Amino acid sequence: MKLHTKILLGLLAGVAAGLLLALLQIGGVAAYIRPVGDIFIKLLKMIAIPLIMISIMSATAAFVDLKKLGRVGLKGVSFFLVSMGFAVALGIAAATLFQPGKSLDPERKAAIMAEIQADGDWRQQIAGSGQAAQKSVADFLLSLIPANPFRAMAEGDMLALITFSILLGLAFNLIAPGKKDKVLPLLDAANDALIALVKGVMKLAPLAVFALIASVTAQFGFHFLLALLEYSLVTMGVMAFFLFAYYGLAVWLLGRFHPLTFFKSLRSVGLLAFSTSSSNAVLPENMISCEQKLGIGRGVVSFILPLGATINMSGTSIYHGVSAVFIAQVFGIALTLQQQLTIVLTATLAAVGTAGIPGIGIITLAMVLGSAGIPLEGIGLIIGVERILDMCRTVLNVMGDSAAALIVDRSEKRRERKRAWI
Ligand code: ASP
Repeated sequence: MKLHTKILLGLLAGVAAGLLLALLQIGGVAAYIRPVGDIFIKLLKMIAIPLIMISIMSATAAFVDLKKLGRVGLKGVSFFLVSMGFAVALGIAAATLFQPGKSLDPERKAAIMAEIQADGDWRQQIAGSGQAAQKSVADFLLSLIPANPFRAMAEGDMLALITFSILLGLAFNLIAPGKKDKVLPLLDAANDALIALVKGVMKLAPLAVFALIASVTAQFGFHFLLALLEYSLVTMGVMAFFLFAYYGLAVWLLGRFHPLTFFKSLRSVGLLAFSTSSSNAVLPENMISCEQKLGIGRGVVSFILPLGATINMSGTSIYHGVSAVFIAQVFGIALTLQQQLTIVLTATLAAVGTAGIPGIGIITLAMVLGSAGIPLEGIGLIIGVERILDMCRTVLNVMGDSAAALIVDRSEKRRERKRAWI
């Protein structure tokens, strides 16, 4: 049986087991199953940082063409930014059209808020994100340079690690060729060993997905899903549309690649993203699938995917767009065009600043609401369905990275073929 089929079975069995536990009102049992899933996520995260660093270093060390490196980066970042901006705009448009906030009557709103008030944790987290929003562009640029790369590693500061790895990789081109030739096979071997490790860890995936999904389902507040049905459906609907229509078309038109093959090749990546809610945890498997199933060159994979896992969050952008409009509707605020444009801008930046780990999108949403003058308490309204929406948005966040890698790779290959002709 293929791995993605096993993962899918694990997911379905997890939903069934979780529902059963919830029905029997013994949802607490889930806490005993969950560690299997957590072990899996930790193992993948354990590999992610060395894999990012070594693969970027080995790619840039072999990438003597600096112009190509710049071009690849520019194409990737442009695709990310355009996709995220478009994703927010689509989220705003859909929420304005379907008006999910209008159908939430004041009684239901008060009931949800009262239940959530009991859990004060989110308020503190959100207060922290307000401070993060005050970071200036200069602060952001400075944060790209790690004063201490080991601390960046320990703290999982991906952008800083990417900068360090690119610079060190490039520096290998400045040393004596004889020495560089000794280092390259070493980096390559370490890269292969890490990939072999990912493949070993992936054997745990079906069981881990079962554990993660069973525990989420057992503890999920289904009454929240029903109370916020319109909001949840609009958010998920826009995400599904964006995934298949926008990324499908982009892969087809810009990458000249059949969208069905693209989605089929990434089935296990999508299922993992859904089950783990973490772009960072899925990164190693995504790198392997993009290279081996989609035939994307290692240079592009090593560069675009880690960058994407850190800054490209189109699922989170849609979530920000729909949520901002939904909360404004519930609070009876009619958003002006200027406020909507502000949301597009800040939500794109907020998504860039969202780390690829579970549940960060709802924290960065505070930045978006704050910028458009929408009450932050609104976050309390949607926190009950946060987990399921996080699972969905992570699928888009990850698939968007793969789409970007494919498009950049194919455009570079076309360019090389053209040059060979001349
Ligand atoms: N969980 C998402 C991811 O890892 C980020 C978010 O919370 O929106 O991609």
